[in-house]
Amino acid sequence: MVRSKSMRIYLDHNATTPVDPAVATAITGILTDQFGNASSVHSYGQSAKAAVDDARAAVAALLGANPKEIVFTGGGTESDNLALRGVAEALVPAKRRHLIASSIEHEAVLHTLKALGKRDWTVTLLPVDESGVVTPAALEEVIRDDTALVSVMHANNEIGTIQPVAELAAIAHRHGALFHTDAVQSVGKLNVDVASLDVDLLALSAHKFNGPKGVGALWVRRGVRLVPTATGGRQERNRRAGTENVPGIVGLGMAAQVARAKTGQTEIGSLRDRLESGILHTVPGTLVNGDPTQRVANTTNISFDRVEAETLLIALDLEGIAVSTGSACSSGTLEPSHVLRAMGYSPHRAQNSIRFSLGLGNTMEQIERVIEVLPGVVEKLRRISGTSSGFSRASSVAGG
Ligand code: PLP
Repeated sequence: MVRSKSMRIYLDHNATTPVDPAVATAITGILTDQFGNASSVHSYGQSAKAAVDDARAAVAALLGANPKEIVFTGGGTESDNLALRGVAEALVPAKRRHLIASSIEHEAVLHTLKALGKRDWTVTLLPVDESGVVTPAALEEVIRDDTALVSVMHANNEIGTIQPVAELAAIAHRHGALFHTDAVQSVGKLNVDVASLDVDLLALSAHKFNGPKGVGALWVRRGVRLVPTATGGRQERNRRAGTENVPGIVGLGMAAQVARAKTGQTEIGSLRDRLESGILHTVPGTLVNGDPTQRVANTTNISFDRVEAETLLIALDLEGIAVSTGSACSSGTLEPSHVLRAMGYSPHRAQNSIRFSLGLGNTMEQIERVIEVLPGVVEKLRRISGTSSGFSRASSVAGG
């Protein structure tokens, strides 16, 4: 098979995804034809309101929820903020001022809790085991009678590990606490059903499952009280003020419909598995990070011994292959991934790790191209840094 060197391959779907063609069509229709303010009484407004209502029904259907429980937001970060800050404030009169989250949450949760921790709340971060899982025993150990909220993500953005959310939520409820899950990385990839997860709040973001950027939703179980984080108009049943982003919301609704129509994730799973085994077999000194089975089907996170991940990312980009590192670049210094560090990995291994996340548009031809290109790129980088000798071909899936 002749493969073009100019083939561009996008393997960073956990960062963001391309918009599904049906989503683009739906948004265009709103932008050109239905520009009304959904709060206006006249027909322009009512037509926009009807479009928002349809989207609300579609998002609710994807989650097995009631449309009235959906609050549209400006994305996953805002949904997490509204859940954490909203519940924390609402439970002040009940004197519940303790908050718990896992140590591998996204910054949207971690930094929000840090801010609350500087005020009148006490925050406890839960450890994870070496495969990145929060154990129910870890939660049992720290939960208190004044715990207001427990927040544990459904699937992790860096390693894809799926958490035992229902088991953890049951523990929270036994102690009278509410449970929030950041499902930004699972909605559209897994069957997410709020009843079986048994949670009270759930955050999602459109751009992670082929919808537009800057729009998301928070599902709030009926009866759960929230103090709004933005005040103003009465939109979203007084839970999120501000004129609705109608094009974005309609795009989210269409993305939800497309996701619901998808039958499982077997195809993406076989591409990911081929990519993973191809890399492990052709590139010496590689290991899979995280749980090899309990994870979303589109993600693999692999460490490349004695290769600086950031350098590998750039070298792959020059080959037309887009991946990401687990590292966050903050104030000019590269910090090892807080997720891999929490799993007990050495800073060295955490800094040598690359996340490959697959999605819409990926093909087996692309995957074969990555497997063909990668060994040479890695070998070259190791040669340049003088670390190419001493590798055996044996790689493994074990953590450590
Ligand atoms: N939560 C998780 C797990 C994420 O992966 C992300 C995005 O990377 C977010 C929250 C934030 O979502 P948004 O980009 O919509 O603000």
